[in-house]
Amino acid sequence: MGIAACVVLLVLAALIVAQARALARCRFWCKSCGQLFALPWTKLLFRQHVNEEWRLTCPHCGHKGWCIARRNGKDEDTK
Ligand SMILES: [Zn+2]
Repeated sequence: MGIAACVVLLVLAALIVAQARALARCRFWCKSCGQLFALPWTKLLFRQHVNEEWRLTCPHCGHKGWCIARRNGKDEDTK
């Protein structure tokens, strides 16, 4: 393990965190109860996903399964 390997690992970690933080600005739609919900980025690390569908646990009904991400945070997402 040289310095280059450490730098690569740091960059990868930063990318994973950046993706999770961007995702925390989205809302997720539960297919089971129909509620929209948001999750803190710490709960969005290392989640399985296919396109816009993410494998999450709904905080409203406790359903574990695929939830659709909606990027509609107009008031928060100004970038
Ligand atoms: Zn639900």
